[in-house]
Amino acid sequence: MTQSLTIARPDDWHLHLRDGAMLAAVLPETARDFGRAIIMPNLVPPVVTGAQAAAYRERILAALPEGADFAPLMTLYLTEDTDPDDVAAAHASGLVKAVKLYPAGATTNSASGVSNFENVRAVLERMAEIGLPLCTHGEVTDHDIDIFDREAVFIDRVLDPIRRATPGLRVVMEHITTANAADYVRSQDANLGATITTHHLIINRNHILVGGIKPHYYCLPVAKREEHRVALRAAATSGDARFFLGTDSAPHLDGDKLAPCGCAGCFTATNTMPLLAHVFEEDGALDKLEGFASLNGPAFYRLPVNAAKLTLQKSEAATQFPEKIDTENGPVTVFDPGYPIHWSVAR
Ligand SMILES: [Zn+2]
Repeated sequence: MTQSLTIARPDDWHLHLRDGAMLAAVLPETARDFGRAIIMPNLVPPVVTGAQAAAYRERILAALPEGADFAPLMTLYLTEDTDPDDVAAAHASGLVKAVKLYPAGATTNSASGVSNFENVRAVLERMAEIGLPLCTHGEVTDHDIDIFDREAVFIDRVLDPIRRATPGLRVVMEHITTANAADYVRSQDANLGATITTHHLIINRNHILVGGIKPHYYCLPVAKREEHRVALRAAATSGDARFFLGTDSAPHLDGDKLAPCGCAGCFTATNTMPLLAHVFEEDGALDKLEGFASLNGPAFYRLPVNAAKLTLQKSEAATQFPEKIDTENGPVTVFDPGYPIHWSVAR
């Protein structure tokens, strides 16, 4: 017996494509199922100016498989030297859809991020004026704050003060991992949205640490207690339009993951839609999947919903996903939920 579900072609509102050989290897994985993606700017060096974003967009388009139905939506990396006029021009031209805030040192390639928020006030005020969203990596980086508390503390110490000081600023709390963040979103107006990853709906911190350390489940923000995973599931499957999909699919070579100081990131571009179908079905919310993956994101970003469709089908046999994606420099491991998935994307 085959069950199927057709939805508008989904988008990924938080994606890492990297550059060069890695970009060439992972881009087809996203372009297969997704119409658009918000492309993270944390390259080395970061994508700070409109000119750098335009050049990166060209490299992505050049790496697309022929006939792909995929558009990269570019972002700028906010630094204390960012020029408000450059940001406004990149937005006015249609090139840039968001600006990304990394607290300095929070995650992969975030050394150029913001330490003193006073120094970005003028940029944030201009963004509020022109309606350009700010995407936040919502973790404080203070050494005295426990890694499992960094998101909750970010809301109180950084996010809420920024939003109070900049009325009208539209903000996406990216890859939220706690009930605190979901509750904060619900308590605010429609200028605040949040993305949720695929893997944070599936794993909690036990998956990383129990029975031997599992580097492929290590990501930032790190997965939290089970009660938080359950809260994220409730938010994603609720139908509340402020929550939408941002996979944070983040490729690292196996050699960089399986190391004494392993990189943070889960690579979910390959199997996200079947995994989400499993999750939403398990929670009796298959009818909410299209909102989460295909409708709520465009509504927040004030873009049209994709005209193309995507069909998911469920079969008796478990779906076989590739274990790894090959790149010129070595393999990248595809996220494994740890249980069989019977959904697949109809081709
Ligand atoms: Zn990310």
